[in-house]
Amino acid sequence: MSKTDSKLVSQIENRRTFAIISHPDAGKTTITEKVLLFGNQIQEAGVVKGRGGKHATSDWMELEKQRGISVTTSVMQFPYGGRTVNLLDTPGHEDFSEDTYRTLTAVDSALMVIDAAKGVEARTIKLMEVCRLRDTPIITFMNKMDRDIRDPIELLDEVEDVLKINCSPVTWPIGMGKQFKGVYHILEDKTYLYQSGQGHKIQEERIIEGLDNPELDEAVGYLANDLREELELVQGASHEFDLQEFLEGKLTPVFFGTALGNFGVNHMLDGLVKWAPSPLAREADERMVEATEPTFSAFVFKIQANMDPQHRDRIAFARICSGKYTKGMKMRHVRLNRDMTVSNALTFLAGDREHLEEAYAGDIIGLHNHGTIQIGDTFTEGEVMKFKGIPNFAPELFRRVRLRDPLKNKALIKGLVQLSEEGATQVFRPQNSNDLVLGAVGVLQFDVVAHRLKNEYKVECIYEQVNVSTARWVECDDEKKFEEFKRKNADNLALDGGDNWTYLAPTMVNLNLAIERWPDVRFFETREH
Ligand code: GDP
Repeated sequence: MSKTDSKLVSQIENRRTFAIISHPDAGKTTITEKVLLFGNQIQEAGVVKGRGGKHATSDWMELEKQRGISVTTSVMQFPYGGRTVNLLDTPGHEDFSEDTYRTLTAVDSALMVIDAAKGVEARTIKLMEVCRLRDTPIITFMNKMDRDIRDPIELLDEVEDVLKINCSPVTWPIGMGKQFKGVYHILEDKTYLYQSGQGHKIQEERIIEGLDNPELDEAVGYLANDLREELELVQGASHEFDLQEFLEGKLTPVFFGTALGNFGVNHMLDGLVKWAPSPLAREADERMVEATEPTFSAFVFKIQANMDPQHRDRIAFARICSGKYTKGMKMRHVRLNRDMTVSNALTFLAGDREHLEEAYAGDIIGLHNHGTIQIGDTFTEGEVMKFKGIPNFAPELFRRVRLRDPLKNKALIKGLVQLSEEGATQVFRPQNSNDLVLGAVGVLQFDVVAHRLKNEYKVECIYEQVNVSTARWVECDDEKKFEEFKRKNADNLALDGGDNWTYLAPTMVNLNLAIERWPDVRFFETREH
C-alpha cells in the first residue's frame, strides 16, 4: 500500500457517522448540545435550538420554535477521543418521517435516546423499524436520571420486549431524581459521581475505583449496598456486551445519565468512538462499494432550500461513500452524465458553514445546487453506478394550492418545485388544468410549505380540498399504449416536480380499476430518484 493510501485508510477508519433517534422531548437537542460541548465546538452549551446567538435569526427557526419541533436536518462534525465524529440531526416530528428515513441511510450507527421516566415511546418504535432495515448498530442512552424515573430493570425489559433488541448495560445508575448520585461503569469497575448544577460545562470527574471500595459507601451512603444487590440481579438478567452482536444490530449497549446535568453523555461518546463502526460499505446497483476504495463516490440524501437567509441557495447533502473529496476536484454527476468541478463544498461545523479542503468517506459535504441535483443522485470520479435505497414515497394527503395574488404564479411554481426537491412534499401539475396540487405524507407539511412560500418566495397561498386520495407514478414500455393511456385518463394524470407522469386517483376503487384495465402500465407506490 502506498503512503497516500494508508493515510486515506486511516482517515476513513477514524470516522464515526451517527444520528440520534428519539421521541420528541426525550432530550435529543440537549444531548446534541452536550456532545458538541465535548467536541469543543461551543464554549457553553445552549445554542443548538436557537436559544440565543446567531442561529436564532431565521424565520424558519421561528416556525420551529413556535411549534417546538426541530424540522431541519443539520450536520455537525467534531473531534472526539482522537476520532472525527459526524452527527446528523434528524427531524423529530412524526410528519417528517421520510426525511428522517433518508438521513438514517447516510449513517453507520444511531444513538437511541429514551426518556427514562417514560420508557419506549411511539416515535422511537418507528425509528427503530427504519434502523432495522439496514441492521444499524444502536447505542442507548437512558436520559433524565435527575428526575423520578421508572425502575431501570423494567426499562431494559421494555426495550428488549418492544424493540426486540438485547440490552447490555454498560453503566448502572445509583439512585434517581434528587437522590441521583452517579453511575457505576460495569466494564471499567469504576463509579462516576454526579454533581448537580454543572450542566453547562465539562465536569471534573470524581471517580471511585472498585465496587467494594468503602469510599463508595462514604460517598453514596446506603445506595452503595442497593447498587451491589441490583448489579447481581442485572448481571443475571441482562446480556454481556458483545461487539459482534452490537455491530449486527442485535444488542445495544445502554448508558444512564442526564443530558441536562451533562452527566453520562461522555461515557456514551466513549462507547460510540470505541465500538461504533467506521464507514461501512454501501450497495450500488452495480456492486458493493468499500469505504476505503481510493476513488471518490457519494450519494445525495437530502436537499434543503434557503437554510440561511444570508445564503439564499439550495444545498444538497451528500454522504461520501468512498475515497476522498478534495477542493477543486472533478466529479461525475452520474444521472446527467456530466462532469463538474467542485471547489466550494461545505461542511457544517456545529451549525456554521465552512469551506472544505478535504473530506473523507463517512463525511457529509454540502453541494450548492442550482436545480440539477436531486435526492438519490450519485457522484463518482467517472464510474457509472448508482447507490441504492433512497425512495420517494407516494403522498397520502393532497391539497389544491391557490394564490392570493394570481400574478405570482411563476414564483409559486418555482417555490413549490424547489421545496419538493427537498423531498418532504411533492407538487403535481394536472394535465388538464392550471391547478397545482400539493401532496404530503403528514399534514403539518402543508403549514410548513405555506410558511416558507411566504417567507422565502414572497407568495401567499391558500389551500383547498381536492378530490385526490392517492397517487402512483406510472410507466409503460410500449409508447403507443402509454399515449393511449394518457389520452383516456387525461383527467387523472399529472406531472410531478421532476416531470414524471403520475396518476392521481380520487379513490382506491378508481385506482384498482385503472390498474386492472391497463395491464401494460406499471403503477409505483415509490419512486426511486
Ligand atoms: P428533544 O425534543 O428530544 O430535542 O428534547 P429537548 O432536548 O428539547 O428536551 C426536552 C425537554 O426536556 C427540555 O425542557 C429539556 O430541558 C428537558 N431535558 C432534557 N434532558 C433532561 C434531563 O436530563 N433532565 C431533565 N430534568 N430534563 C431534561
